[in-house]
Amino acid sequence: MTSNNNNQLKNTSYPAHSIDWLTRLIAFDTVSRHSNLALIEDVQAYCEQLGLIVDLTFNEAKNKANLFVTVPAGANADEVNHGLVLSGHTDVVPVDGQAWTSEPFTATIRGDKLYGRGACDMKGFIACALTLLPRAVQLSNSGQLRRPLHLALSFDEEVGCLGAPLILADLKARGITPDYCIVGEPTNMTMVVAHKALPFIVAASMVSLRIRH
Ligand SMILES: [Zn+2]
Repeated sequence: MTSNNNNQLKNTSYPAHSIDWLTRLIAFDTVSRHSNLALIEDVQAYCEQLGLIVDLTFNEAKNKANLFVTVPAGANADEVNHGLVLSGHTDVVPVDGQAWTSEPFTATIRGDKLYGRGACDMKGFIACALTLLPRAVQLSNSGQLRRPLHLALSFDEEVGCLGAPLILADLKARGITPDYCIVGEPTNMTMVVAHKALPFIVAASMVSLRIRH
């Protein structure tokens, strides 16, 4: 599942820092009524450069996709079941008619804050997850990752969580039963267990705008 060629990690043109990843992700206009495929394909290429195998599930119109990828664990880097899921939605709410003081799809840093549509909810979390992925792959390649690490990116969360059930059905069909899931929804840095309307989700806030360079 993973590449043994660690040079791939050095040659990537993808960001190495979370703020750069966040800037890249914000630039994709993934308002829920639009396709998210450009963002998904970008993340897919990144994961494949890392030697990972990406699993996509699509909506009926095939213009939106979920992405699920696993960094395998164990001494032989061949364990893909159980482990921890980092989960985020790729869509964002609209910007129509809102009084933005900067371009919403261009990340703008003023003071110690970064502004852009989805910066907090929840491309910030996705940026952090993508930034740590190469480290997880390195651990996997050297047989030191003790449990699989999964990344799940969904579509249409803001319009009724239409994408996430496809991921769950796909995981069930593949016999993958993760042990834990952290959903990076912004909750003012307070741990929140389960969503008020979706009891199958274990939510926790891992989003911080004080992202390290
Ligand atoms: Zn959200």
